[in-house]
Amino acid sequence: MIGATASASRRVPGERCGRLAAQRGWYRGFFDPSRWGRVFLCGSEMATEALFYADSYLRDFEATVTAVRPDGVALDRTAFYPHGGGQPTDVGELRAHGQVWPVTAVRRQGGDIVHRLDGESPPAGTAVIGHLDWDLRYAFMRLHTALHALSGVVWTGWQADVTGSHIYEDGGKARMDFSLEGIRINDVRDEIEERLNAELAAARPVRAYELPRAEALELPDLIRTHVNLVPAHIANIRIVEIEGLDRQADGGTHVANTSEVGRVAIINAANKGRINRRLEIALTD
Ligand SMILES: [Zn+2]
Repeated sequence: MIGATASASRRVPGERCGRLAAQRGWYRGFFDPSRWGRVFLCGSEMATEALFYADSYLRDFEATVTAVRPDGVALDRTAFYPHGGGQPTDVGELRAHGQVWPVTAVRRQGGDIVHRLDGESPPAGTAVIGHLDWDLRYAFMRLHTALHALSGVVWTGWQADVTGSHIYEDGGKARMDFSLEGIRINDVRDEIEERLNAELAAARPVRAYELPRAEALELPDLIRTHVNLVPAHIANIRIVEIEGLDRQADGGTHVANTSEVGRVAIINAANKGRINRRLEIALTD
């Protein structure tokens, strides 16, 4: 599916998407259960269809401007991932009638996904082509997946919880913090790196799906990442799973198989106080 485009796919108008969302009990807003990653919650009155959930490899798409705001334009559908959950904003371009608008930042505002543009915005109703800076997004996807694998490795080996994570905006590296009392991070750094690369090389499938809340609350992996803190009215929870290694409630974009991450290096390891340990990773392939 790499490089697939949405141009040939069926358009789901925002209104219908909202109705579908309501039927499926989706939810809205952001949620940050463990500082590991905010979970995107899709709204029943959701105005922008988030195409990256169905296909994180989508890099070109057709859309219509639904609103012009001081800080950018809302679209009826988008493949641009908005900043959140430790994953930076996508950037790229919108194009229409031979004109090009650089997309410099993307944010959620209520149910809308708003694209900040350079230059005067196209008016509401304009049909546009969206084009992602794919090299950057793909780096985010690889790093994000590497963080999940790292979380799984450190949990499996040391029963350490994740207390935070972040992907740097240039797509060059990412960091993850763990609660790892009594262990000096440099004593285990090499072993973590070795295990992490072994897990990535094992070519484990990465899947995203939704689970009914009650079912999600029963899963040990999700309990330890505090899925119980998801507000009670939320019916379905989006899960990202690396088969046999890690399972999280999650709203980001990931590669489909750990082999796409390639090799990862731990480029920095630091003890942050009595309990917190920080690891920085970079892609080396
Ligand atoms: Zn994720």
